[in-house]
Amino acid sequence: MSTVSPAAPAVEIVGLRKSFGDLLVLKGIDATVEPGEVVCVIGPSGSGKSTLLRCVNLLEQPDDGKVIVNGVELTDPDVDIDAARRRVGMVFQQFNLFPHLTVLDNLTIAQRKVLRRGKAEADAVAFENLEKVGVADKARVFPAKLSGGQQQRVAIARALSMNPQVMLFDEPTSALDPELVGDVLGVMRKLADEGMTMLVVTHEMQFAREVADKVLFMDGGVVVEEGPAAQVISDPRHERTKTFLRRVL
Ligand code: ADP
Ligand code: MG
Repeated sequence: MSTVSPAAPAVEIVGLRKSFGDLLVLKGIDATVEPGEVVCVIGPSGSGKSTLLRCVNLLEQPDDGKVIVNGVELTDPDVDIDAARRRVGMVFQQFNLFPHLTVLDNLTIAQRKVLRRGKAEADAVAFENLEKVGVADKARVFPAKLSGGQQQRVAIARALSMNPQVMLFDEPTSALDPELVGDVLGVMRKLADEGMTMLVVTHEMQFAREVADKVLFMDGGVVVEEGPAAQVISDPRHERTKTFLRRVL
């Protein structure tokens, strides 16, 4: 008889601490994202949300604590850091596309250099993901010719083209004109529906309420409150969460 063991979490963050000089930014963060789950992180500016995401894909080196992605500890000093990073896709507020490359080349360069895919395969993967985010007709143009919403959808398609196990989003709609926000949130909603595991920093409370399985409220480098999205957003327990939500809702 075999015992059924529950699937390992997709992301496990354990006791994560990070300082910049004298500034203690993350004071011991614990968080778990289960496979296929969408977890939204909310909280005031400066609370450490971006630093948390940057530590999860090792853009910042944590001072202490662990990040484990599908059972592989990325913070293990012996782990291949490039291989580890590849498991985690990231989408930034400012898109961060390569301005000197066409949309298609933005999507294929890392596939070819990092994953060693041939041109035909890399192009096919790129087009599949451009279709998914609704900008396949822009493959041959340069990012500057696109609206912010289109650029962000290209950035999402670029991250997806590396077949990440988890997608991180750091305020992906904060730099967009209001009328373009919906397209990007629509793409994220579709990814969530397809079962992508996502950790999303956002101020879009309606998105968080409708799409997230779980919401974490961060303030001052700690997770003050976490729970089901509807509960944290509509019926917060902590005074700091209530104060924050009164300001943003
Ligand atoms: P949030 O994303 O919640 O607004 P951040 O994680 O960006 O918060 O920043 C948390 C704190 O850490 C802020 O006080 C910020 O100024 C500081 N900080 C972030 N990155 C750096 C850095 N590279 N060097 C020094 N201070 C930083
Ligand atoms: Mg931030």
